[in-house]
Amino acid sequence: VWHNCLEFIKDNIQPQAYKTWFEPIKAVKLADNALSIQVPSKFFYEWLEEHYVKILKVSLTKELGETAKLVYIIKMENTYGNKQPFTERIPSSNRSAVKSQEVDVPFGNKNPELRNPFVIPGIRNLQIESQLNPNYSFENFLEGDSNRLARSAGLAVASKPGGTSFNPLLIFGGVGLGKTHLAHAIGVDIKDKYPEKTVLYISAEKFTQQYIDAVKKNNRNDFIHFYQIIDVLIIDDVQFLSGKTGTQDVFFHIFNHLHQNGKQVILTSDKAPVDMQDIEQRLLSRFKWGLSAELQNPDFETRVSILKNKLYRDGVEMPDDIIEYVAKNIKSNVRELEGAIISLIAQSSFNKKEITIDLAKQIVEKFVKNTKREVSIDYIQKTVSDYFQMDISTLQSKTRKRHIVQARQLAMFFAKKLTKASLASIGSQIGQRDHATVLHACKTVDNLSSTDKQFKKYVDDITKKLSI
Ligand code: ADP
Ligand code: MG
Repeated sequence: VWHNCLEFIKDNIQPQAYKTWFEPIKAVKLADNALSIQVPSKFFYEWLEEHYVKILKVSLTKELGETAKLVYIIKMENTYGNKQPFTERIPSSNRSAVKSQEVDVPFGNKNPELRNPFVIPGIRNLQIESQLNPNYSFENFLEGDSNRLARSAGLAVASKPGGTSFNPLLIFGGVGLGKTHLAHAIGVDIKDKYPEKTVLYISAEKFTQQYIDAVKKNNRNDFIHFYQIIDVLIIDDVQFLSGKTGTQDVFFHIFNHLHQNGKQVILTSDKAPVDMQDIEQRLLSRFKWGLSAELQNPDFETRVSILKNKLYRDGVEMPDDIIEYVAKNIKSNVRELEGAIISLIAQSSFNKKEITIDLAKQIVEKFVKNTKREVSIDYIQKTVSDYFQMDISTLQSKTRKRHIVQARQLAMFFAKKLTKASLASIGSQIGQRDHATVLHACKTVDNLSSTDKQFKKYVDDITKKLSI
């Protein structure tokens, strides 16, 4: 029975997926119209359930009829040859190669699609969900000087994934400038042109989480295996991997495999590779193999065309002078630009007001104010002392202990940089010092951050914390 199922499955999915996910399965027994199959791990079982349940059902129903049942048996002995002493934790009376964790999956026929299992449309597309957002298309990604290089590199990659020298393609730039959008657009376009290719979009954060889970469940190899069968791997926000050596290692491994096999890798990051911190050198050097393309702040014309396109797609009409007013005043990034126009539309429809330049002014003002909200000196002191894990009172105290002095100087430096307060006022708020002390602190921080690497890291870390 299982042999016939396999034949059917083999004809309907990609050979590589078949090899990875079906060859390792063993049929164990058939009783009461229930077929038991043994799978190497829980991860494996979950993967099958998530991605291949349909084809499993179809093939089994074909063999055993509507009452067919499938029982997974998860093999607990370690199949990957590393010496995780799993059996030692199981009392010897229970010890066996096969654990009795059985997962019963009855096949109901609630799903109308399955009534006639042989004509499920598109069954050949039973593949990994790409996790792509179709709205993030090239069509919707307006071109301008700020993104021309990145956009055309993306188009080149999409027309020949793995076949250009842009491998990996690394898209970098500040928040809200379109990295995620462009990365999706490439994936969407590839799926369009090459439907048989397996494309996967995943954030570096989710990738890390999956990896940690896999390690916990002793499924590291399944995890690697899974990523190695992908044709186009898109990882968003790789700066998230900084400092995470385990995930970097596994990614390095996967990257090499994909690259050697001519598969395309697309990465995004909020920094250029040269500025990435706590990423292993060997990984950084891989990033530089392909092309790094920057997304910059869009200029006024591009901002206008982005807004017009958005309004057009949403079916909203707006006078040109208002669009231009918004585009002129919101320059920080595209996300804010879109946010402002959305709240403008919302305000006008909510209050049944016409969209006038006055309303636009009000909203833009609020937007600009909100995004550039000034941080308070209190907030700076709290952030700095949290960062060094000390109390504010310690930071303010008279002590001359080096690390406390440094923390205090950093707080003064940031207060000068980020608020409009005078030196004297900063001094009096941070531990009753005078203006000369604050001035000295600012100079010291400036000097130290250009000579002392560790100190520079403090400045960068705190800058990041304060800018959220
Ligand atoms: P990032 O990932 O760089 O933070 P996103 O890709 O999330 O930025 O983009 C933020 C928003 O701006 C999204 O809604 C995106 O569709 C839009 N956007 C960015 N660049 C463009 C562009 N060139 N044309 C149209 N929309 C854009
Ligand atoms: Mg993003």
